[in-house]
Amino acid sequence: MSVLEILKFPDPNLRKKSVPVDGVDDELRQLADDMLETMYYRKGIGLAAPQVNRQVRLLVIDTQAALNNYKSEGESQTELEKKIHQPIVIFNPKIVKVMGKTSYSEGCLSVPGYYEDVNRADWVRAEGLDRAGQQLIIETDGLLAICLQHELDHLDGKLFIDRLSPIKATRIRSKIKKFGYEENKLREKHEVL
Ligand code: ZN
Repeated sequence: MSVLEILKFPDPNLRKKSVPVDGVDDELRQLADDMLETMYYRKGIGLAAPQVNRQVRLLVIDTQAALNNYKSEGESQTELEKKIHQPIVIFNPKIVKVMGKTSYSEGCLSVPGYYEDVNRADWVRAEGLDRAGQQLIIETDGLLAICLQHELDHLDGKLFIDRLSPIKATRIRSKIKKFGYEENKLREKHEVL
């Protein structure tokens, strides 16, 4: 396994639309393993393939690890989240049903050090393929639902900063332009998606 380089906004490769996989082979499983190692190394809870410059529809997620190792205090998993085996590796993910609304202060390994409240659905049903190429169905709320929506956006070239109001989006973009990304600015209390 190896830790991969993570592309950062405004890298144009983050804007490409990722393509579905035809099937899950050893090479793709290796990519998923490398992405998991990269995600844990960077203390993230989710990572999408385009963030490591592979434009395929693949996500890795582990909100449980965050809870065990580097999550902020006072947060816990919902009953639905607890039932789901993590880490999650999901190819060709689709969100087929959503319910409710929620808002959460999101960060991103491709926009490190910056956080903003983003509106998302509260509950989602996601379908895709697992690492064996078998159908995977996830029904969840909580941080896992937010993470799934955030990571799926990456596959369509979308970042959380695109989901902010025009005023907030302009503010964060100009901050990034001015200050860039300082590694030591990463706030340990936040989990990044
Ligand atoms: Zn992200």
